[in-house]
Amino acid sequence: MKVIVADSINQKGIDNLKEVAEVVVDTDITPEELLNTISEYEAIIVRSRTKVTREVIEKADKLKIIARAGVGVDNVDVEAATEKGIMVVNAPESTSITVAEHTMGMMLTSARKIAIADKSVKEDKWEKSRFMGVELRNKTLGVVGMGRIGSQVVSRCKAFEMDAIVYDPYLPKEIAKQMGVELADLETVLKKADFITIHVPLTPETKHLISKKELDIMKDDAFIVNCARGGIIDEDALYDALSNDKLGGAALDVYEEEPPKMSKLFELDNIVLTPHIAASTKEAQRDAAIIVANEVIEVLNGRAPKNVLNMPVVDSKTYEEIKPYVALCKKLGSFVSQSINGQIKEIEVVYCGELSEIPHHDILTRTVLQGALNHVLIDPVNMINAPTIAQERGISITEGKTCDSKGYDSSVKVKAITDDDEFSVEGTDLYEPAIIKINDYWVDVKPEGHMFISKYNDIPGAIGTIGTKLGEKNINIGTMQVGRDIAGGNAIMILTVDQKIPDDVMEEVKSLENVFDAVGLEL
Ligand code: NAD
Repeated sequence: MKVIVADSINQKGIDNLKEVAEVVVDTDITPEELLNTISEYEAIIVRSRTKVTREVIEKADKLKIIARAGVGVDNVDVEAATEKGIMVVNAPESTSITVAEHTMGMMLTSARKIAIADKSVKEDKWEKSRFMGVELRNKTLGVVGMGRIGSQVVSRCKAFEMDAIVYDPYLPKEIAKQMGVELADLETVLKKADFITIHVPLTPETKHLISKKELDIMKDDAFIVNCARGGIIDEDALYDALSNDKLGGAALDVYEEEPPKMSKLFELDNIVLTPHIAASTKEAQRDAAIIVANEVIEVLNGRAPKNVLNMPVVDSKTYEEIKPYVALCKKLGSFVSQSINGQIKEIEVVYCGELSEIPHHDILTRTVLQGALNHVLIDPVNMINAPTIAQERGISITEGKTCDSKGYDSSVKVKAITDDDEFSVEGTDLYEPAIIKINDYWVDVKPEGHMFISKYNDIPGAIGTIGTKLGEKNINIGTMQVGRDIAGGNAIMILTVDQKIPDDVMEEVKSLENVFDAVGLEL
């Protein structure tokens, strides 16, 4: 197993990786060199310098994971990685404390005018009365976005004896209660707060979330801090508010354009500016390196990492519960796709019994798709790229749930539909995957090895004709099951055989009288 560390990360992360893999540290690697060598590696770790582009990803035939030792993945083409089935992980939690502490620093610097006071002293001045500040104690903190960082800021502000009021429409009330904060709409937060701190992602919804209208609502002596992302505060509106004393002060670590070239904000005394360093501490960098190294180790050992950006995340307890069904679902997907005639247009997956109560069916549905698509495609399909590939091939997916699991604790039913065929298979886990129903026929089949399914008319001698034909062709039958709807009606035969049945033999079986379909399956 070979890993490339393409940007400099803390040595502790590299040491951890070296225990399980061959690690190449090449922090000067050029884009051309990366293109030429990426096919050797199963994992790549980057920070910000190295760009993992679509071109690189297309050549990365062994790559399983791209890890960014930091927050965000701006330098990784996540879409290209998803299409190729490569996991993308980062270390979002590594910087939470660091950014929260920087936010506290920005609040204190603004409230006590530390930055301009420092400049004044260094200019050999002693302007004590110019730098009258305000305390944080007994003030109201307004938090916009109560995620990892926002909540760390709140707990630090509590130590400063501040009250917190939060705007986060996605935060459940119970969690806000547990955190001891009051939830309110944005307008209320802006009206009440003495200090506003922004901790939301930059999205179309949060772009210019704080603009002229919002700044007008704020108290005239309030302070606003943005250590989240540039563009959430409208910088022109902020300039107007600060220069017209419509605001006590502001502190920015992030800008609409970085670096902010000759911004008019530079003219103002009531703003503190830092160069996007809120996450820059030795501890955050060490933690990011350790976190992503552990993620890579998990993947190289065949386990699921925590912070996958292009796959649903499942906690370990839920994963243990659904694990037996992962193998089953892959088999069911493969079974239907090999059994049906024509191009699949739709796949329906129904989770039955106890399994219907467990969340994260997305993982299992992805596994069904993986099983179904791997059979028809040359390029490997995995849980990451399966939905994208299904979409590209025009396959629609539906998921359903029912408490009826036909006497089993849980079962999964997979139905595939083409323009002129339908095929369904239902299975359960009996310490190993078992198929319990094929179309309308109850069966008990272990889906493994070489298999054969035939549909025929239920008349005397039909089973014998098929068995004889296979015998003539030297195909040895291991197990046999038959089922029928009614006596003399339609019947199905499922065989396990000792070798793959050649295509010409399949054709001969299909041409037998009373046989109207036959397929060979490899499971
Ligand atoms: P997080 O995902 O843990 O929390 C974000 C919170 O924002 C969530 O609680 C979410 O519900 C809330 N939210 C989302 N959309 C919202 C909206 N429209 N209105 C109100 N709330 C909304 O993220 P985090 O790790 O706490 O990071 C917060 C921000 O800090 C992000 O923008 C991140 O990019 C930024 N950040 C900056 C630096 C830096 O160097 N300055 C470093 C790390 C993170």
